[in-house]
Amino acid sequence: MESNPENKLALVTGGIGGIGTAVCRRMAQDGNRVVAAYHPAEAEAATAWREDRQAEGLDIAVVACDVANYGAGKAMIEEVTTHHGAISILVNCAGITRDKTLRKMDPELWDAVLRTNLDSVFNVTRHAIDGMIEQNFGRIISISSVNGQKGQFGQTNYSASKAGIHGFTMALAQELAGYGITVNSVAPGYIDTDMTRAIPAPLREEMVADIPVGRMGAPEDIANAIAFLASEQAAYITGVNLPVNGGIYMS
Ligand code: NDP
Repeated sequence: MESNPENKLALVTGGIGGIGTAVCRRMAQDGNRVVAAYHPAEAEAATAWREDRQAEGLDIAVVACDVANYGAGKAMIEEVTTHHGAISILVNCAGITRDKTLRKMDPELWDAVLRTNLDSVFNVTRHAIDGMIEQNFGRIISISSVNGQKGQFGQTNYSASKAGIHGFTMALAQELAGYGITVNSVAPGYIDTDMTRAIPAPLREEMVADIPVGRMGAPEDIANAIAFLASEQAAYITGVNLPVNGGIYMS
């Protein structure tokens, strides 16, 4: 069943990344118009990515934006709205890791992760909500992380940024509940993308051994959860941080 027969407009930041690609694909397959936002340094990759989606029969637009920059977030929302119309579904998926124990953590590593993972959610969402309020409909879904729920050695910056997303989500859910807009986050466990392929193989194997379902997650596992939260059927779910983690952490 199509979760969204009304051809809504979905904007996905980090849209050409591992999880972002699965989310864009699923959103498009569900009958939405989709715009994938990419980092301006990835213009060539974004063009190739768009062609790959076209080869799959999916017409997905792309837009450049450094989501860590407030003005860029505003400009992107204006550009998308002008060219494609009001945004109904926003998926905040852009994110990075810069791991170091706190004793070795430079302010640059802290700032880069907080700005990219947490400030970005503010920078983009801040400008997307007026159009949703006008439509009296909206779905805002941000990608947090299991490591924002339980903490992770070497990731004070990342864990703080992802836990921050949950606080943002609960507060905004209350502000927007009266406008038909739900605000949720999805907390992936360990998902097989470039981000986790950067982890040394022996460590990855140890991680998999700890996952009750016995495998790393696929990007599609996250896309499935996001598609549900984006659907009309999820209208009564707001302010939630939905774990999609193969049982690795239960709270
Ligand atoms: P990827 O690295 O594949 O995708 C992240 C995307 O975000 C990349 O395309 C990246 O572009 C983009 N990005 C980074 N910084 C910026 C920026 N300043 N402006 C615009 N785009 C930017 O990682 P994943 O797909 O695995 O991760 C997606 C999200 O899921 C992230 O928020 C991550 O923290 C979260 N997550 C991932 C988990 C996993 O196990 N993979 C687990 C839990 C959460 P570029 O390539 O140029 O950096």
